[in-house]
Amino acid sequence: MTLNHSITHSPINQQLGDGDDAGEVTLPGISEGEIVVLRSKRRKKSISAYRQGGRIIVSIPARMSKADERSVVPEMIAKIRAQEAGESPSETVLMQRASELLELYAPEITARPKSINWRAMRERWGSCTSVDATIRISDRLKGAPSYALDYVLFHEAIHLHHFDHGPEFKAVLARFPEESRAEAYLEGFEAAERRYMPPAVLPGAEVL
Ligand SMILES: [Zn+2]
Repeated sequence: MTLNHSITHSPINQQLGDGDDAGEVTLPGISEGEIVVLRSKRRKKSISAYRQGGRIIVSIPARMSKADERSVVPEMIAKIRAQEAGESPSETVLMQRASELLELYAPEITARPKSINWRAMRERWGSCTSVDATIRISDRLKGAPSYALDYVLFHEAIHLHHFDHGPEFKAVLARFPEESRAEAYLEGFEAAERRYMPPAVLPGAEVL
């Protein structure tokens, strides 16, 4: 696989390519290292894009011009995003679900999140800022089984009241009925990410 790719490098969140013409393309809302462009010598015309863990991999023919790459890559990313938006729960649904989980398993916690957003996060599954009651959920959980998503939502929602991972926090989290199954899913996901080296570290991968 590695021999089939040529190597190029672009700075993060800047123009795709050299920026030497009028067709400048920026990719708003893309986090560092999220997009990987592979140039494949085996590929003649076809272009494909798919999600791998927290990354979007766009595979293009090796001979494609930089100008074509600049137009095609954002299109493919938009397609993947649209597809995922249709498949994954909306942020409104996440808010409702977090409230339901608190009512079910931690009724003594009356705090509610003010917002829950999907976020491209590869190092964490979720985060909670208790000061402004905002929660972010890793977009690696888009398409995850509901017990795994619920578990992360519940974990972050508990942080609205218990800020650290002390015994009180753990006691509440343990009320989630599928805790060990959810833990196993998340661990398995992380193990698979480590095992199947992300293309970004392979020669020939262009990380945007
Ligand atoms: Zn936590």
